[in-house]
Amino acid sequence: MQSRDGVPRAAHSFVSFDGGVRARGYLQQPDRYRFWRGRLDETPRISRGAGLSYAGASFLADGLSVSHRAFDRVLDFDSGRNVVEVETGITLSALHRFLSPRGLYLPVQPGHGRISVGGCIAADVHGKNQTRDGTFINQVEEVTLVHPAHGTLQLSPQRDAELFRLTCGGYGLTGHIVCARLRASAAPIPWVEIRAAPFASAEEGFNHLRGAARDADFSYTWHDMSTAGDGFGVGFLIQGSFVPQERAPGTTPGIAEAPVLSADGRARLPVPLLNRLSTRMLNSLYRWQQRSAHKGKVVALADALFPTHKAQAYFQLFGAAGFREYQAILPYAATASYVDAIRSYLRQKPLPITLSSAKTFAGSRELLRYTGDGISLALNMPAGADADMFMEFLDQRIIEFGGIPNIIKDSRLPRAVVDACYPDAGRFRETLRAFDPKRLFRSDLSERLKL
Ligand SMILES: Cc1cc2nc3c(=O)[nH]c(=O)nc-3n(C[C@H](O)[C@H](O)[C@H](O)COP(=O)(O)OP(=O)(O)OC[C@H]3O[C@@H](n4cnc5c(N)ncnc54)[C@H](O)[C@@H]3O)c2cc1C
Repeated sequence: MQSRDGVPRAAHSFVSFDGGVRARGYLQQPDRYRFWRGRLDETPRISRGAGLSYAGASFLADGLSVSHRAFDRVLDFDSGRNVVEVETGITLSALHRFLSPRGLYLPVQPGHGRISVGGCIAADVHGKNQTRDGTFINQVEEVTLVHPAHGTLQLSPQRDAELFRLTCGGYGLTGHIVCARLRASAAPIPWVEIRAAPFASAEEGFNHLRGAARDADFSYTWHDMSTAGDGFGVGFLIQGSFVPQERAPGTTPGIAEAPVLSADGRARLPVPLLNRLSTRMLNSLYRWQQRSAHKGKVVALADALFPTHKAQAYFQLFGAAGFREYQAILPYAATASYVDAIRSYLRQKPLPITLSSAKTFAGSRELLRYTGDGISLALNMPAGADADMFMEFLDQRIIEFGGIPNIIKDSRLPRAVVDACYPDAGRFRETLRAFDPKRLFRSDLSERLKL
């Protein structure tokens, strides 16, 4: 389909990474700067990065998705201040390949290098030490936003701060983020030592995690919740720290391109291979593998930042039916009750919990960004009616315990739960409408949550 802005709109089938939402819409793939500078018409639209969000955040049924993929260059680098300016279609891996030879890295990065910088800003994602490093917004010095009704805007914590904070964590609803200036941190060495320390219960793991977040550069836990019986919640505290110079390998690690990952590729298997039995086997295998890291093992920084590169076949095991992730931050005082509630539920209605992993979080809650003080626990399971029932149960527990769900990780999260958990949900809607009364930027996520 031709359009006034001169870039064709092709019919396209979209699917969220978890397989929960499918929609037919239109995809536009501009590759010239004049597209952003020209007159964009007022067709309801949404930006699309790598399309790897678990929720349907970058498309809408019959809507227009504008891909940033062709805009993937490093535009400028200030070596004095370690600030890099990029087009937001750049992937995290490509940016890492630019920064690493310069002794730099971004401390806050999600687990896969194919994810785009635009997606990281719009979802204000977290990395592996949120307590120390905060969320992605902490690395953003400035963004260039394009909106059909407002033209091109430069936003920063100093310049139009309210719109800047609405945009970083605004799920693409304020406009197209075309470029960003990001502040990198020093990577003393491109090698990280990873240690996996066993613990005997979820609570013990969370306690160790709180201590580790103060000292280590990366820290998270892995728990075995594949059975509600003995051994529920046992696991490993995984800590990573830059290797001291004297113990570093005498070479520089190569940085391979991130393996291809897409929602369609993930769903290639017609039948799911993860059930209660195979999940227990998978968990046992993972525990066995971690033995090599008990005493510490040295890995390339890229492998520590993007651990899913070597394990992405895991997502394919869910097959076309897909999976669900429930990720929520619980206040520290509520974590024991939350885990007890999960265990009691699973005793009565067993479900294969294929992954359970926690991180510590700190900071004040604001708008719809996923942050705040507490423990963030992520649970994965195969999609289906049983999973949906369990997730509804968890919705009620986080409301009861004062937690918040991660909006970008859940393609079915109901509006009522978001409104009950995020005190600023109303302020988000009001500020967005004040900026864009016609509400031009829309997605499956924004329609479901009435944003
Ligand atoms: C394997 C894997 C591991 C992950 N690990 C983590 C993790 O550790 N921590 C974490 O927080 N998240 C994690 N995520 C989630 C992921 O970081 C977010 O969903 C992220 O938003 C995906 O970015 P994307 O480039 O795929 O964007 P898309 O999925 O295409 O879009 C995501 C959102 O960003 C908006 N957007 C994208 N580009 C732009 C732009 N240029 N301008 C304006 N808006 C834009 C879209 O409109 C949409 O709302 C993980 C996801 C996967 C698949």
